[in-house]
Amino acid sequence: MPQYPSCPLCDKLHGLQELPDEELVWQFPHSVALLGPWQYHTGYCILVSRVHAVELHHLPPSVRRGYLEEMCLLAQAIDVCFQPRKMNYEALGNQVAHLHWHLFPRRHDDPDALKAVWLGFERAEEDRALKERLQTGPISRTAITARLRACIKNGDRTFEIH
Ligand SMILES: [Zn+2]
Repeated sequence: MPQYPSCPLCDKLHGLQELPDEELVWQFPHSVALLGPWQYHTGYCILVSRVHAVELHHLPPSVRRGYLEEMCLLAQAIDVCFQPRKMNYEALGNQVAHLHWHLFPRRHDDPDALKAVWLGFERAEEDRALKERLQTGPISRTAITARLRACIKNGDRTFEIH
């Protein structure tokens, strides 16, 4: 049973085996990395806490440290694989109050570089072409996940795949 049956992320964690293979990037001890839907920001992942908690400070210190360490491993892998201009970390939880972080690697050629990514996603709800552009990366979702897995497995800052 999920920890909180009414929580969509507890639900998702409970059914990881049912996710498409490319969506489940990595299973860390304290968190699970999922490939996000907006791959214009190539490598965008959501790092979901395995424990249902609403706020970061609600986690016991050792769990929180483990979670944050895993976030850095994931961020490093995204950075090595896709070399963004800047990583954006966001923990919002206004829609789903189960601790999860969005890791958005901002592109060098992003015309909205100084704006929050969510503004574009909001516009995309009304604009099919924009939605497709923001959901699509330069390579397939399967290839993005494969690269990320290889980088996480390697865990080496100097490791690069071209
Ligand atoms: Zn939950």
